[in-house]
Amino acid sequence: MKSYISTWPPLAPAQPFPRRLAILGSTGSIGVSALRVVAGHPELFQVVALAGGRNAKRLAEQATKFRPALLAVLDETAARELRDLLPTGYAPEILVGPAAFEAIAAGPDSDLVLSAIVGAAGFLPTLAAANAGKRIALANKESLVLGGLLIRKACRESGALILPVDSEHNALFQALCGHADADGKELSKLILTASGGPFRGRDAAFLASVTPAQALNHPNWSMGAKISVDSASLMNKGLEVIEACHLYGLPVTQVDVLVHPQSIVHSLVEYIDGSQLAHLGVPDMRIPIAHCLCFPHRVELNMPRLDLAQVGGLTFERADEGLFPCLRLAKEAYAASPSHPAVLNAANEVAVELFLGGSIGFMDIPRLIESELARHTALPKDADAGQLLAVDAETRLRVRKAAGE
Ligand code: NAD
Ligand code: MG
Repeated sequence: MKSYISTWPPLAPAQPFPRRLAILGSTGSIGVSALRVVAGHPELFQVVALAGGRNAKRLAEQATKFRPALLAVLDETAARELRDLLPTGYAPEILVGPAAFEAIAAGPDSDLVLSAIVGAAGFLPTLAAANAGKRIALANKESLVLGGLLIRKACRESGALILPVDSEHNALFQALCGHADADGKELSKLILTASGGPFRGRDAAFLASVTPAQALNHPNWSMGAKISVDSASLMNKGLEVIEACHLYGLPVTQVDVLVHPQSIVHSLVEYIDGSQLAHLGVPDMRIPIAHCLCFPHRVELNMPRLDLAQVGGLTFERADEGLFPCLRLAKEAYAASPSHPAVLNAANEVAVELFLGGSIGFMDIPRLIESELARHTALPKDADAGQLLAVDAETRLRVRKAAGE
């Protein structure tokens, strides 16, 4: 599979166990699920570093249990709190500030990095891991949306390997393994499934007045706040279309979206003979996380198995891009230029934060993003990380201003 973002993982040299694992964003929803997988298979992993944002209490609990030599937090307040909470006799090095996450991502002690920070904050650490040639289990889709071309280039140059944690992309990966021809010519398209979120089937009047609590109430998945709102607006699926284009090296026209409210079929690959291969499972992120952390091996996860007779019916429908414009905006942004997705992502992050804070309505999210995209002038294709991050920062300021902040 030549067009894959990194060396096609089935062709990469085997990685021995125990694997030396660093987790960026260990205190979040993905991080917590990953540590549950690790706790179930302690012989397979040595946790060498844990990095959280500001949740010192949860990080202290995790560190006390897994005893990594290296920890990182976002600021001094969290670092002080963390130091106070650690047990006597355990004195890990504690790094502080955004650069700490890059240092952990690229540090010599790990050979497997789980990138699970939320948002654009995950971009530089993911890029650092890619430049350092790591095996990366990638949950932070925003890093590909913001700077996918740079991460692709870094993987090509360093030999870094990417395994997709996002359930849809992991499903695609599993449906491609063992079936994909070397140059991808037998591949017809990728079909990403979407639950449709909590507002599927609602009308425009309803969407105009939804509350943050309603948007956070996802029907099938338990996730962090930002991705939950993204799922409600279908921006999550839009970001995932871009993520799929970068991971699998395909144009946006070869990536379809199919709404599947039961979240049992996690995505499908269509081949040129019309065959569609799907990956099915209960909606629990431990499955794709374990698949990435243990690849190419599979491990027992001690969770209820999928019982299709009990599920009864699986249904599918087209996404409504009229009511949920974020999906359309993401596809247009990817087709427009490599820097438009950076604008899309930054505008979305700020708009979601403002919506969660109660200062804008749900439908203001696509409105604010669309006007930012319309005014953006594309950067050259070879824009570097500094240029993309400058666009990210300018967009954030402008969206706050446009929202009256
Ligand atoms: P979350 O909000 O639960 O956790 C985010 C983590 O990032 C926390 O550890 C937090 O402390 C840390 N963090 C936040 N801001 C930071 C910053 N500025 N610098 C450093 N660390 C920071 O989020 P999540 O739901 O676990 O999602 C993490 C990533 O995984 C996102 O990119 C999301 O899109 C992706 N993802 C999540 C799921 C899921 O089921 N939760 C599924 C697929 C993909
Ligand atoms: Mg997903």
